[in-house]
Amino acid sequence: MLLKLKDVFLNDGSRSEFDYSLPLAELDINGDYPFKSPVRVLATAVNRAGVVELNVKAVFDYTTRCDRCFVPITKPMELSFAHGLATELIDEENDDYIETPDYTLELDDVVISDILLNLPSKMLCKDDCKGLCPKCGKNLNEGDCGCDNETIDSRLEILKQLID
Ligand SMILES: [Zn+2]
Ligand SMILES: [Zn+2]
Repeated sequence: MLLKLKDVFLNDGSRSEFDYSLPLAELDINGDYPFKSPVRVLATAVNRAGVVELNVKAVFDYTTRCDRCFVPITKPMELSFAHGLATELIDEENDDYIETPDYTLELDDVVISDILLNLPSKMLCKDDCKGLCPKCGKNLNEGDCGCDNETIDSRLEILKQLID
């Protein structure tokens, strides 16, 4: 969505709010299409003493595979971002500022890059996911496979002794 922010920029204290759905079903992340349903974008632009602050909240379901047992999972996510907007960049080094020389901003691009930068690097089906048996590949969340995984157990024993 193209935000037209001229009124906000020119009037100290004024604000604009935006609430829309951003379909990202085509967005390819490492061969996966994690955004099965549209991302809801809630944004507020506020002029505080001449500086325009943009606060964005992205609410979406993220479909991927558990990093340990590889079952498909869908996680409800809510990510928040903030940026300052300036008609000319005061500080080139500061990535938090976005240059908006003509008082407009293509918010979709900002939301997509913010989401990609802030996604957790690992996602698990549950915090204590047991993963797959290294020998037979069975999903250990569904029960023990009966394999003799003694090598792993003995390593754990050594670790325990080290901790004690
Ligand atoms: Zn898992
Ligand atoms: Zn096994």
